[in-house]
Amino acid sequence: MRTILFLLGILPFLHAQHRPNIIVIMTDDHAKNAVSIYGSRINTTPNIDRIGREGAVFTRGFVTNSICGPSRAVHLTGTYSHINGTVDHSSTRFNGGQWTYPQALQKAGYHTALIGKWHLGSIPTGFDYFSALVDQGEYYNPRFIQPGGDTIRMQGYTTELINEIAIRVIDSVRSSPFCILIHQKAPHRNWMPSPKHFSLYDSADIPMPENFYDDYAGRSKAASEQDMEVRNLYLSYDLKLFLEEGEAEPGSGGSERFKQQAKAAWERDLKRLTREQREAWDTYYRPISDAFYKNRPTGTALEEWKYQRYIKDYLRCIASVDDNIGVLLDHLLQKGILDSTVIIYTSDQGFFLGEHGWYDKRFMYEESIGIPFLVRYPPLIAPGTVRNELMLNLDVAPTMMDLAGLPVPDSLQGRSLLPLLQPSHPWDWRTSVYYHYYEYPHGWHKVKRHYGVRTERYVLIHFYNDIDEWELYDLWTDPGQMHNRADDPAMADIRASLTEELNRLRIQYRDTDPDPR
Ligand code: CA
Repeated sequence: MRTILFLLGILPFLHAQHRPNIIVIMTDDHAKNAVSIYGSRINTTPNIDRIGREGAVFTRGFVTNSICGPSRAVHLTGTYSHINGTVDHSSTRFNGGQWTYPQALQKAGYHTALIGKWHLGSIPTGFDYFSALVDQGEYYNPRFIQPGGDTIRMQGYTTELINEIAIRVIDSVRSSPFCILIHQKAPHRNWMPSPKHFSLYDSADIPMPENFYDDYAGRSKAASEQDMEVRNLYLSYDLKLFLEEGEAEPGSGGSERFKQQAKAAWERDLKRLTREQREAWDTYYRPISDAFYKNRPTGTALEEWKYQRYIKDYLRCIASVDDNIGVLLDHLLQKGILDSTVIIYTSDQGFFLGEHGWYDKRFMYEESIGIPFLVRYPPLIAPGTVRNELMLNLDVAPTMMDLAGLPVPDSLQGRSLLPLLQPSHPWDWRTSVYYHYYEYPHGWHKVKRHYGVRTERYVLIHFYNDIDEWELYDLWTDPGQMHNRADDPAMADIRASLTEELNRLRIQYRDTDPDPR
């Protein structure tokens, strides 16, 4: 009898343990190289770092298809792109009728909400509430799609607005546990900072990566034929210059078609600003533009000027994200729910910050496929936990099920991270990851289709479609992926075993059709 009473007494406690609140903060294109807990040389992110410092830092987190919408679909469904159907942006829209973890949590009694970027072409499903940015979203005075399909426009800076809405939603939940997805637009192109951060980094020169002037020697044609070089960014739309009368956009910016519209698109962005915002904007950016035209740099000076313009605005957008995470953490602390809430910080993929001379992502190279992944939840995770296992965005959905105490469906292709949040070492954790990118020849940036395998030490990539070329890198001796050793006789045995592993993964994940589109 005493035992039964004891069990009845701890049941609510056990239940609560199985149903924590969950907040997933996902930014758009935030590279690990711009997060200080990952050793950034170029900025600090104290509030983002706090999540990892007081919880777990995953040092080898990757995506399976490095591009916004498809990565988000993997995150929601726990399945690869060829299974969930969203392989790229141009030709597919997300099927919201399929299994997703927000739907499963909602059915299990969670209050679910999505605030911010959706970018999957369909109306969000599985949420009790959503406020979703239209398409890519705007940095200032953004439009949000509401449940029921109405669109509202809110005045302010998008990063702050998304945080404010999320806090209101958190405050409105009464009894059930909640799962809130806070999906920031920042720091996605075209990197429009808040006036609060205009002058941040003004007195600094941000160091350029060593391989900024990469000549792509020895690599496949994919590396040299892409269109994502910092030196080709649009002067107006990307770098915020006020073009001179009649001046055409130089460079290509990733799309020859958009090149014709870039100047007009930039003018539309500026027209969205309120008078006050526009005054603040012109006060900061007009002198930069005037100085450029007065003493127009050329050659490497021009390339370096473009890098500084690009990277500073990118980092300023991240500064707003970090500030607002501080506001959110403080709010949860004041409400007394900080420690009973699982908080995840991640990005939909990585980003090139000048490595190989690039911005953007897509390639199966470390800067693009690597993601920050931090988890704070003191009841389960000891502060200072560091995990070096290979984890994937594919693992998020099964992890959510596990956190909520729900069974993980067999159809999911990822694996719950819960064992890695505790001091255990699962003997059968994955030792290789599989990747597949599809958006070519359509879409932006001309990155050729490819798939590949990454192990602890090596990466083997096959570029296909209009070429048939292989790249192989030893990450221990060549972390910057500058020396393709696919045809190096000394690597023949390693290439053979990687090819075997690649074929095994393609069968395991049922991706044997090279062109499922
Ligand atoms: Ca993205």
